[in-house]
Amino acid sequence: MSNITYRMLQKTLAGLPIPVDAPVIVHSSLSAIGRIQGAADTVIGALLNRFNSIMMPAFTYQTMIVPETGPEDNGIRYASSTDLNRMAIPFNDDLPVDKLMGITAAALQKYPLAYRSKHPILSFSGVHVEPGLSAQTLEAPFMPIEWLWKQNGWVLLMGVDHTVNTSLHLAEKIAGRSGFTRWAMQNEKIVTCMHFPGCSNGFNEAGESLEGISTHATLGEGQLTVLPLQAMVEIITLYLQKHPTGLLCKDSHCQRCQEYRKRYNKK
Ligand SMILES: [Zn+2]
Repeated sequence: MSNITYRMLQKTLAGLPIPVDAPVIVHSSLSAIGRIQGAADTVIGALLNRFNSIMMPAFTYQTMIVPETGPEDNGIRYASSTDLNRMAIPFNDDLPVDKLMGITAAALQKYPLAYRSKHPILSFSGVHVEPGLSAQTLEAPFMPIEWLWKQNGWVLLMGVDHTVNTSLHLAEKIAGRSGFTRWAMQNEKIVTCMHFPGCSNGFNEAGESLEGISTHATLGEGQLTVLPLQAMVEIITLYLQKHPTGLLCKDSHCQRCQEYRKRYNKK
């Protein structure tokens, strides 16, 4: 098992084509990379040493509620999670990020200089990206990504693939996928969250089309992939316009992907 130091990480980040003043959305799985001295704190330190501003998802699926009934064609089975509803935890600023986000996202959420947005399911945290984070609403969960897009932001995947590349949901939105309605606990109330995204399990289909704008680097046993957000969104929006059922997963039980297929067939 390789032992990655702060200095090695710094050197790798410095070799990436991301301008130092561009905001970067980072998705990471440190276990895919190997042993990093100082773990997540080292990664955040190195990222902030190299880039002015970083953002990461701080999603909290444990706040979600499934009601007894709701709108039709919503990619959901109602009244299916009575037991889970009982375990739902109301969102608050300190609610730990979902384990799926990885330990670096968890560490950034706790980082003293980081700001976290207020969406009960799809919050983001970041440093020097407050205008993007504070633009997020229950009706527009991906405003932070739109802000990154306007700021010529970049995507950095560290030891992960496109199945966690949240920014691809922006391409879906532009291509006409309007998402779903979901519910979550916030301040002891149930709030409605509009335009909740589809499933991202099929997103690796995007990899081939994005190869021309992707740069890869090796770090430990993992791979880093970086892409400019605007070009990525443009390529995948066009791809989805050509392939309306593109990027959907192959699981026949996946309710959101099946719902998108149904919506397309109705057109
Ligand atoms: Zn799916």
